[in-house]
Amino acid sequence: MPSSFKVIVVDLSRNLSSLEYFDTRDQWLGGSGLAAGLFRHFGLLREGPFHPDQPLIFAIGPLTGYFPLMSKTVLGFMSPYTSQYAESHAGGRSALALKFAGYDALVIKGRAEKPVCLGLGSQEIHIQDAHFLQGMDIYKTGKQLRNLNPRNPGHRSILRIGPAGENLVGYACINVDTYRHFGRLGGGAAMGGKNLKGIILSGDSHLDLDPDMTKQYNRVYNEIYSTVLQSGAMRKYHDLGTAENLIPLNELKALPWRNMQSTHDPDVQAVSGEKFAQDYLLRQVACAGCPVGCIHIGLLRERFGQEHEFLYRQVSYDYEPIFGMGTMLGIKSVPEVLTLLEDVDRLGLDAISAGGALAWATEALDKWIITREQTLVRLEFGDLQAYRAGLEHIARKSNAFYQALAQGALIAAEKYGGEDFACVLGQEMAGYATGENYFVSQALGFRHSHLDTGAYGYDQQENSRNIQGAIDYMQEQESYRVLMSSMSGCLFGRKAYPWENILRALSSLGYNYDQKSLQETVENIKCLRWALKFETGFQPEEVKIPSRFLETETWKGRLDPDYLRQLRSEYQEVLKKMAASYREEPREE
Ligand code: SF4
Repeated sequence: MPSSFKVIVVDLSRNLSSLEYFDTRDQWLGGSGLAAGLFRHFGLLREGPFHPDQPLIFAIGPLTGYFPLMSKTVLGFMSPYTSQYAESHAGGRSALALKFAGYDALVIKGRAEKPVCLGLGSQEIHIQDAHFLQGMDIYKTGKQLRNLNPRNPGHRSILRIGPAGENLVGYACINVDTYRHFGRLGGGAAMGGKNLKGIILSGDSHLDLDPDMTKQYNRVYNEIYSTVLQSGAMRKYHDLGTAENLIPLNELKALPWRNMQSTHDPDVQAVSGEKFAQDYLLRQVACAGCPVGCIHIGLLRERFGQEHEFLYRQVSYDYEPIFGMGTMLGIKSVPEVLTLLEDVDRLGLDAISAGGALAWATEALDKWIITREQTLVRLEFGDLQAYRAGLEHIARKSNAFYQALAQGALIAAEKYGGEDFACVLGQEMAGYATGENYFVSQALGFRHSHLDTGAYGYDQQENSRNIQGAIDYMQEQESYRVLMSSMSGCLFGRKAYPWENILRALSSLGYNYDQKSLQETVENIKCLRWALKFETGFQPEEVKIPSRFLETETWKGRLDPDYLRQLRSEYQEVLKKMAASYREEPREE
């Protein structure tokens, strides 16, 4: 297996590309570690997210294409939401397309003068004029890009942005192959800032495998594959999918409703995973290289004629988007949730952040903190049409109010008032009102996401308030998640990939680590990511935890403000120490 990373670097300002090799596999591993290492090399740590030479880095891992569920691409970039180094992960076909094109990473620098699309394959690279796609939504853009690039269907991945990305909305997504996204921290705006409307990755080559390794590889592959399929470890993800979480979290008083004015609602059945599956599930699809197929596609019918005339659409759903466009907005009907999910997808918005922003605006309007003239529409919990209009206004930044809201609920609250009920923890909260551990973890976490440390799991398993226990749990989880993300693995595959299976998979491809050296490398990548976040402006003391979180009732009862304060204070010291202990090793190119 190659000892160096093969990285294609594209400069949109100068219409140039180059191949660079980095002999740093032992330090960066791949995926998350590779993106962070490349950002340290190419990133402008003291410049903002829209500096033309700020890089967008798409990185994959050493197991991509060889093992099941190694299907994610890691995007490393300067976030337009936080103006700090950030990561976002997406599946679809992007990871395998990049692998089969022969690269470990794609780095995009510069800014095109007019909207362009980038095409990349093993033998070709081209930058196409795309001015005629300007303002076009995600679906139409995808269709145009497929028509313009008809080669390699099935081995091709199409990434694109919609109006939200073009208009630099702080939480604009990059859509990947229609049903997957680089979401949350504004990857779509980072792409929009480069005038880059789309990327077509063509996986038009083949994978290498050392013939001497074939036997060992086949054995390890088969063992992991049967764990994925036969152990039942992944059944939940294929069956109801993550939407299965709605009822249990609601019972646990951990499901935010109506801007988290409540964490429980008796009508949860109306938008439960069971309801979606029984009445609206059309099919399940999978990312390339994954046998699980957790992507649930719902059928949305729209009547357009007097008689029985219907337009139908296929809309992907998951727990978090149902929370963002459903419970957080008080929407209690599956077709209505699907309608809003289709709107956010079409516009290229992140469903969780857009939901959190609109939920805050609804409560602010209700409390007379903002006016109907500012919101342009009467936002009310449960009102589908009002939220459809609100999403359009955010994506198009229709007035000064929506310009602020497009940067996030807390930015708008700082300007207009109502900070105490902005459900923001570094970014709009994920759908887990489980307790203090999770709130601190998301507020200070690397991606401000429930995926950083899985602390919502600790909240659910641990009733006592144990600061050291919580910090140990979060640290251990973060290490494992950095390992998986450096392999570009899907975090749903955690049960199939304990540390020893990852070591065996790496070894079967000729990458030889022992447990100790792998752990040390992962710890150093963890520190590198934190070093980048601090060096690009992260100040944990400045992160606000609005009082709405302290008013929350969970299964443990009212939150304990003293515990939350103390946990936060000790956890932020741990993060500072990690950032300070990053060891930079000499690099050979
Ligand atoms: S489990 Fe789901 S998200 Fe993960 S790789 Fe498979 S299809 Fe993609």
